[in-house]
Amino acid sequence: MLGKGSKLYSICKLKCPRCHEGDLFANNSLLGYRKMSQMLEHCPVCHQMYEPEPGYYYGAMFVSYGLTTGPTLAIVGLMMMFSEEITLWMFVGALLLSLVLFLPAIFKLSRAIWINIFISYNPEAATHPQARGH
Ligand SMILES: [Zn+2]
Repeated sequence: MLGKGSKLYSICKLKCPRCHEGDLFANNSLLGYRKMSQMLEHCPVCHQMYEPEPGYYYGAMFVSYGLTTGPTLAIVGLMMMFSEEITLWMFVGALLLSLVLFLPAIFKLSRAIWINIFISYNPEAATHPQARGH
């Protein structure tokens, strides 16, 4: 399921959605804060553009909201083991905590998911790059 050719591979490994070889980010680690938001302009292997038009990743924001829900609910679940009731502020705290802890992962995964919605894997891409002129 996580093999090359599946969208999950490209998303989890933060690889180019087209060739599954090139990295998507300057710092391609899910937990690294360094250069967190620095996405490459195009794939170093198949030259797929990562931002075909300005504002392309606007919709990725909504994906990131969805991704934030997971860790937030997990933290709220942990709180429920130690507390009788969950107040609004505890919930907000859980939300902020998961944002701080998982911001790099949420940012990168949401962009990887977003670009995978529009660009499909092409096994030829790595060996026959586009726009190379020969
Ligand atoms: Zn590529």
